[in-house]
Amino acid sequence: AAKGAGRNRYSYFTPTLQVAALSRMRLTNDLRSALKGEQFELYFQPIVHLESGAIHKAEALIRWNHPQRGIVSPLEFIPLAESSGLIIEIGEWVFREAARWVQHWRQSYHPDFQISLNQSPLEFQREGGSYDGWLQHLQALALPGQSLVVEITEGLLLDASNAVSTRLLQLRDAGIQVALDDFGTGYSSLSYLKKFDIDYLKIDRSFTRNLAPDSSDMALSEAIIVMAHKLDLKVIAEGVETPEQRDLLATAGCDYGQGYLFAKPMPATQFDAFLRDNAMPSAESIVKSN
Ligand code: C2E
Ligand code: MG
Ligand code: MG
Ligand code: MG
Repeated sequence: AAKGAGRNRYSYFTPTLQVAALSRMRLTNDLRSALKGEQFELYFQPIVHLESGAIHKAEALIRWNHPQRGIVSPLEFIPLAESSGLIIEIGEWVFREAARWVQHWRQSYHPDFQISLNQSPLEFQREGGSYDGWLQHLQALALPGQSLVVEITEGLLLDASNAVSTRLLQLRDAGIQVALDDFGTGYSSLSYLKKFDIDYLKIDRSFTRNLAPDSSDMALSEAIIVMAHKLDLKVIAEGVETPEQRDLLATAGCDYGQGYLFAKPMPATQFDAFLRDNAMPSAESIVKSN
């Protein structure tokens, strides 16, 4: 039977599911040594104030430099980190790296510089968790809570358990801000925006992608922006790739944009240079201001 099955032979005898499970197990094992092996790296992507072009914020995005496989996407390994519990340790590492760099950029670039970091649902909701350790660490670095933003997804608010509201209050007490990531893709009831203290809405990339005058995604984005502003939230559009998208968003009153148009996520040292270049007034802006 195997003869003639050709390229499907492998998947015929070894169910794809089993292969996938095995590869997940291997990767989870590798994940355990990744922290010790210093295989993680934090990348940074600028968040641009659309009206002024100022860059006082960045999102921290983790990368795993696997010794054999090269860069593994967080989309692939974060779920494994969650199911294995390693997400807690990884999250602590991300926090410390982000704190170290935000301190540097507050001193060397702008005193209000702010870094947002992502927390996956399990990480955010973990039982008995508190931000006391973070707060102590920030205090030791002489950093206020507002130097950080925690990005969570809207699904968390839907399943509004006590754990979620407790965590949100803890963040509030620490002065750390909160962003709702990938907004518009879940089923978030808008009333949660009023109930919980959220600072930023991040409009999902899937809306930005199809922005065009008079498109339904344009109408939805405009509605989200108006609503967010009424509730005193700032809006960040994800996945801004073209000048047209940037202009449409700016006209709609969107506060910030993030995406390949401005810069891809990059290693900290590269981002450092990026900020320095950005701080230099360009010939263009000098001409404009004269
Ligand atoms: P996210 O938080 O929604 O991050 C935005 C993602 O969009 C990033 O993917 C970023 O590289 C990508 N992106 C930014 N601008 C553009 C653009 O203009 N076009 C396109 N096509 N993509 C753009 P990335 O870095 O692969 O991260 C994927 C997801 O992994 C993140 O989505 C976040 O949910 C999760 N993640 C990343 N870092 C961490 C972390 O440290 N901890 C946790 N728990 N999750 C993380
Ligand atoms: Mg995010
Ligand atoms: Mg996002
Ligand atoms: Mg996303």
